[in-house]
Amino acid sequence: MALLSGDEYVESLKVFSPEVYVRGERVDKVWEHPLLRQTINHLKAGYDQARSPETRAKFAVTSPLTGEDVSRLHLHIQQTQEDVLVKARLTREVSGRRICAGCMSNMLSVTWAMIFDIDQAHGTTYFPRYVEFIKHLQQSGQAIAWGMMDPKGDRSLPPSKQPRPADLRVVERRADGIVVSGVKLHTTYGPGAHQVVAVPCRALGPQDEKFAVALAVPIDTPGLKMIARPSPGPSRPVDLESPLSSRFMGVEAMTIFDRVFVPEERVFMCGEWDQAVKLPFYFACLHRQSKCACSAGHTDLILGTAALCARANGLGLKPSHIRDKITEMMMAAETAFGCALGAGAAGSEHASGVFLPDAIIANSGLDHIRSRLGIHLSHLHDIAGGLIVTMPTEADWNNPELRPYIDDALAASPEFTTEERLRILNLAQDLAASRLTGTLLGFTINAAGSPVTNKIVVNRLYDLESRVNIARQIAGV
Ligand SMILES: Cc1cc2nc3c(=O)[nH]c(=O)nc-3n(C[C@H](O)[C@H](O)[C@H](O)COP(=O)(O)OP(=O)(O)OC[C@H]3O[C@@H](n4cnc5c(N)ncnc54)[C@H](O)[C@@H]3O)c2cc1C
Repeated sequence: MALLSGDEYVESLKVFSPEVYVRGERVDKVWEHPLLRQTINHLKAGYDQARSPETRAKFAVTSPLTGEDVSRLHLHIQQTQEDVLVKARLTREVSGRRICAGCMSNMLSVTWAMIFDIDQAHGTTYFPRYVEFIKHLQQSGQAIAWGMMDPKGDRSLPPSKQPRPADLRVVERRADGIVVSGVKLHTTYGPGAHQVVAVPCRALGPQDEKFAVALAVPIDTPGLKMIARPSPGPSRPVDLESPLSSRFMGVEAMTIFDRVFVPEERVFMCGEWDQAVKLPFYFACLHRQSKCACSAGHTDLILGTAALCARANGLGLKPSHIRDKITEMMMAAETAFGCALGAGAAGSEHASGVFLPDAIIANSGLDHIRSRLGIHLSHLHDIAGGLIVTMPTEADWNNPELRPYIDDALAASPEFTTEERLRILNLAQDLAASRLTGTLLGFTINAAGSPVTNKIVVNRLYDLESRVNIARQIAGV
């Protein structure tokens, strides 16, 4: 069944028994652990949006590989301009509601392109194996966790020169496969996935050959362990507080490979160090195009919440300073989204069939919006007012002796009850003054690569000489 419902997804997890730890303790059933609740909900919501009759037409697409419908955001290999443009729209829509669209189709697509290149350069036969793996994912509807980022140790040294090497590497080659050891960090949604896909994260040299490895293994493969960091929301269910982070957001995991055997049919790269550099570049095109749309969605959410706070406070957009700030955020969201669409419009097809958005536009757009998140969060504080960090808690509101005082003290616009106003202010608190705020900042600044990498890509690819020549001609030099 290519398209699972959210409930079927949860059922499908029960077949696996991964070695997952949360707060130092081994987890028995990931699908019902209270500290993994938000991640399972998040993934469930993604499954439901592709399956439910109301949203299926948008979120599902027929895979050319299987002839069956698959989730666009999770499992589709993006092969046309339409694919990357539609994905950008969906990403903005979902990120504007749940922060993360879970766009693992980007990762599967960039890996598709790199593996194709490896076969072209080395005469290997990894690509047909990878195609079979993608078909398996699409036919089973399984979710992947993406293991790209190695620990990297001392950043000034390549993997092979690390005094305490921890990056993922091949430790044994066997007739029927390979054995790998090492770690991948920041594995978003890790414990909620069925398969882990691991790929190199940076350019490698000849001495780094054993670190040039790409593979996929089921999450309960012997030797694979995940140390999961709970998502930022409250650990116990709440009604009024943390309306977003109590329901959704990703658990992050440190994924440890302790002599994990990978059968030959799931080995997609083994030693071709010269091709490792391709992956970060393809990622810089396709995933950063998505991140422009993703950050546009976050900005939509922040400005929508700010405007609602202004209404609940009784002002709405009448004061010009509030209107200006909301407008500034609208323009930032549209600029970032425009870059997602523009990068798609100016993209081109890779020889493997994957459609790669334009790297210069995607990286410029991401750099632009990333650096504004702090400003937008401060606008939300400004417009919502100090209550978002000082208001009484949900437990106080639920105490019948205290409620009348709070009810009177926090009544504002007659359009909203005090409870409604508290709910709105709690959303603002969740976004701008909580553990979610910190995660959102980290997600915006670091996920998809450090900010400087945007500048490196633009600097490397921008045709500066032609612009210098025009200046020369006009100046008569
Ligand atoms: C919320 C979140 C989710 C994520 N999800 C995933 C995921 O699912 N899968 C995955 O694989 N990764 C994921 N990542 C990882 C993400 O891609 C990395 O965090 C990002 O690429 C930065 O790498 P780093 O954290 O190792 O920081 P570093 O690379 O250590 O960067 C720290 C600083 O050092 C600088 N720096 C580093 N090396 C050098 C150098 N050699 N020369 C000069 N400057 C240098 C950087 O530019 C930066 O300013 C996620 C990250 C976050 C925050």
